[in-house]
Amino acid sequence: MQIYADNAATTKMSEAAIAAMNDCMVNWYGNPSSLYTIGQKAKEKLEEAREEIAKIINADPKEIYFTSGGSEADNQALLTAALNGRKKGKTHIISSAFEHHAILHTLNKLEKNGFEVTLLPVHENGIIDVKELEAAIREDTCLVTIMTANNEIGTIQPVTEIGEVCRRHNVAFHTDAVQAVGHLHIDVKKQNIDMLSASAHKFHGPKGVGFLYVRKGIVLQNLIEGGAQERGKRAGTENLPGIMAMKTALIESAANMEENNAHMSQIRDHLIRGLSEIPHSALNGDAKHRLAGNVNFSFEGIEGESILILLDQRGISASSGSACTSGALDPSHVLLAIGRIHDVAHGSLRLSIGENITVEEANYIIESVKEIVAYLRSFSPVWRDLTEGKREFIL
Ligand SMILES: *Cc1c(COP(=O)(O)O)cnc(C)c1O
Repeated sequence: MQIYADNAATTKMSEAAIAAMNDCMVNWYGNPSSLYTIGQKAKEKLEEAREEIAKIINADPKEIYFTSGGSEADNQALLTAALNGRKKGKTHIISSAFEHHAILHTLNKLEKNGFEVTLLPVHENGIIDVKELEAAIREDTCLVTIMTANNEIGTIQPVTEIGEVCRRHNVAFHTDAVQAVGHLHIDVKKQNIDMLSASAHKFHGPKGVGFLYVRKGIVLQNLIEGGAQERGKRAGTENLPGIMAMKTALIESAANMEENNAHMSQIRDHLIRGLSEIPHSALNGDAKHRLAGNVNFSFEGIEGESILILLDQRGISASSGSACTSGALDPSHVLLAIGRIHDVAHGSLRLSIGENITVEEANYIIESVKEIVAYLRSFSPVWRDLTEGKREFIL
């Protein structure tokens, strides 16, 4: 059996998205900046895609800027809020401890350039407390950036409430919605979102393309200088095949969202019940307020990396922590942020299931994980110490 259960790392492109990409490469190969007909046709396709995408998050097409993906959108959003803030003497930024590295590393850079950053705790359930957020807002706060849904533990943040608080205090609100767009309903107007990042390859579009939504009235700062593409705010010839495929994938995901989520959350809960039977294991993140496709468990006395290799031998692709940090031995900053100690965080497994997963596949995953965890524990010195009482069980 082959089961791809790493959709939070990336997704397989949908047939329709592949067809849209091909159609563009064959038929709409002009440069949207060229004035002759072939160029103008490409420009039409580009603007059509912008309109369709804007509609899905209830934005105006002029508020959508195409980027090379989620990381670029995150970088540009933070730079924009920081530079605009500094002009008004505001240099304080609020974020959370479990953001994606595209946010955290950009915040580190801003700190080196004179900005002050407050990282809110995300608590044991992986959800920030809006009261704590409000209390952290100061006179000189120029930005709140909190992700819509976490990429490792799938927890969904109270975005509507955060937007309301930020609007009331007149602070810009950016959300990294890379895990949410195409998977959750988003309405940037109703939710008072000022900037939002998205990436096509997390909703069955291609890699290397995404977008940044920026509310009208916010002056966007350039990350990439050059030509006048994207209203002069993001230079470089537009990735039209990627953009057309992204549009197609997003329309498809939005149209099937309810049905997909209903199915996936059922399988997710089945997986959670099955894996909970493993002794000294625990679900990471809130059981209810989480993405329909996300299951994240810690197992005491083993190494997450070893589970992955053994799952791979059985045809199951999964992740421990986040794909961006695998290869590094540091335990996931997300699991540490929700209070897991190093040893426990190391023995963690993320399954991010796809829309087409079946009950049989879920059962195969449960059986495989059970056997693998028991096998790894059978020769784990940490597990021996735990069972001999030389160490205390935590889970
Ligand atoms: C994948 C991901 C990103 C990065 O997006 P890319 O398009 O791969 O650059 C940023 N934030 C979150 C939450 C993600 O899951």
